[in-house]
Amino acid sequence: MAYRFRTGDQALVREINLSIILNTLREAAPLSRAQLAARTGLNKTTVSSLVRELIDRQFVREIGYGRSGGGRPAMMLELNPQAGYIIGVEIGVDFILVILTDFTAHVLWRWQEEINPDQPPETILDRAINATHTAIDHYETHVSPDGDSPLLGIGVGIPGLIDTDSGMVIFAPNLGWRDVPAREKFTATFDVPIFVDNDANASAMGEHYFGAARQVNDFVYLAAGVGLGGGIVLNGQLYRGISGYAGEIGHMTIIPDGELCKCGNRGCWETLVSQTAVIRRVRRAIESGKHSLVSQLVNDDLRRISISLIAQAAKAGDEVARQALEETGEYLGIGIANLINSFDPELVVFGGVLSFASEFLLPAIEATIKQRARVRPQDLPQVKVSAHGFDACVMGCVALVLYDILREPRQAS
Ligand SMILES: [Zn+2]
Repeated sequence: MAYRFRTGDQALVREINLSIILNTLREAAPLSRAQLAARTGLNKTTVSSLVRELIDRQFVREIGYGRSGGGRPAMMLELNPQAGYIIGVEIGVDFILVILTDFTAHVLWRWQEEINPDQPPETILDRAINATHTAIDHYETHVSPDGDSPLLGIGVGIPGLIDTDSGMVIFAPNLGWRDVPAREKFTATFDVPIFVDNDANASAMGEHYFGAARQVNDFVYLAAGVGLGGGIVLNGQLYRGISGYAGEIGHMTIIPDGELCKCGNRGCWETLVSQTAVIRRVRRAIESGKHSLVSQLVNDDLRRISISLIAQAAKAGDEVARQALEETGEYLGIGIANLINSFDPELVVFGGVLSFASEFLLPAIEATIKQRARVRPQDLPQVKVSAHGFDACVMGCVALVLYDILREPRQAS
């Protein structure tokens, strides 16, 4: 049956093509119009017309002549950093981190403050909103005093179960939040698109757009810190499941009668591989009489043990620290093998505070997945450490805003 485009369809097709051009430039700029045509399969006339529109709308800029595939010099294109600016906000368990970036996710300003998680959610959200105001003030005073570059959106990452349609935090066990309307608080103050998402989901998109998973469309991101969060990216998009709960991998049951988890169940993966679990392993070894450099590093005050001290001791050859990390690596490997068996990803990206001890965790992780993943050895996914370290979530929050603009570029101006 012949299919004819109606006018509305043509507008939609053009919008999709604008999105394809922007995403291709995001991945591979600088590119010429001819290279864009070759990469996208669109014809050259269409590409020229789309590029003209994107230049008029300030999303794309010409950066001078370059050699395009050995031919004669052609005008090269890239995303215009001054198309607008983006703010990423992470509300962590005991801190708020805010960054301000240009349209190409180049960080222009960064702010971090400690918070007390015992404070009510309203107070913590007010502080995040104040920090966002400070970001905007900085931009308007120092970066774009003539105001010709708009704020494109704000991404907010929170460690919990989020209803991304409403921006409601349904449950954030490590913050003690239930049914907190986080986006509503932000939209009452800022008249730009606001995206609230789970911190690990956001981080996954940040790794995909500008980190360890660039050009990789099927991967699993996991962040081990206070808790264990995960983000599953399939076909270049976050997999959210039917109700938005997908990616709660930290609460896979590994040991049915194991340690009590903050979610109320026992033996969740998180209870075996969070920073608390690593610290507990070291503490128990010391309390059972084992000698460790860690006790010297904390002057025998075992409450002061941290991941960075454990990593420091492991580097110095401390057996207790090394064993605790190795055991943790094995449990990380067990969970990762389960994920490999479920999703067959191309890559696993490992972030969070524990990734700072990755040199001691990765060998045990790799040995365990080799043993437990039902995949031919040559098909095992690589395990890579997050490219953004402590900034993984805020970079991801910026990616959430970009994702939306690049998907529907008409709505951005
Ligand atoms: Zn749990």
